[in-house]
Amino acid sequence: MFQVAPFSSQAHVIIQITDTHLLEDPQHEFVGINPEQSFHQVIAHIRAHYPKIDAIIHTGDLAQTPTAVTYARYLDYMQTLGIPFFHVPGNHDDPAHFPFHASSPQDISIVAMGQWHLVLLNSAVVGKVDGWISEHQLMQLQQHLQQHPNVSTILACHHHPFEMQSKWIDQHKLKNTATLLDVIHAHPQVKAVLCGHVHQESSHRWEHVEFLSSPSTSVQFKPRSDDFAFDALPSGYRVLKLQANGEFESHIHRIEKMLQNINTEISGY
Ligand SMILES: [Zn+2]
Repeated sequence: MFQVAPFSSQAHVIIQITDTHLLEDPQHEFVGINPEQSFHQVIAHIRAHYPKIDAIIHTGDLAQTPTAVTYARYLDYMQTLGIPFFHVPGNHDDPAHFPFHASSPQDISIVAMGQWHLVLLNSAVVGKVDGWISEHQLMQLQQHLQQHPNVSTILACHHHPFEMQSKWIDQHKLKNTATLLDVIHAHPQVKAVLCGHVHQESSHRWEHVEFLSSPSTSVQFKPRSDDFAFDALPSGYRVLKLQANGEFESHIHRIEKMLQNINTEISGY
């Protein structure tokens, strides 16, 4: 279990960033934008608006070029911020180089912060775009939730558990959502599930849980589109304010000044 000492015992500020899609060469462009630059602009915005951040969570697709060089540069950069940061892998990440927090990619990681726990889940399957959370991790999650019934908990994984009403992206969703829901159904302390992958903002209420996705720090996908399509919206991130009583609020920031000059000729991703 990772311990984060929060700024305050009353409320914690968590930032979700996602889908940075970093390239090995930080000067290069990907579909018409420089992902390194837009990632740094997002971080600059976060720093300017939130002086006290307890943790940053990256919900996957750290790398578009998933080599040791790309991950090392990400870790070096994040370490300069002086903010505890955590990440789960996405379908574009390579488990051979991804900097997992747990000793095995198939173990869950727990971050403890004041009255809250954050559980990191690996939903990436080698060679696949869609997602699956292993039975082993779901068992660990269940055990953890049983042992900590009074600790408000947020889960994070890369793939979206619920459909986005977007045909092309829904074929790439988390495929064993039902099993995940079986686990969290019995545990009212689970307040939210964070995901990336869909490069757009969304929220979906299911029972006692809020399922939330966040815009990418790089390019955005058009909501409710049956075919692959980019959206011209600026990059963004999600802020979560967690209260000691188990309530939380959340919203999205967009980096309005960021120029989006996406190459819309590209139809595959
Ligand atoms: Zn992505």
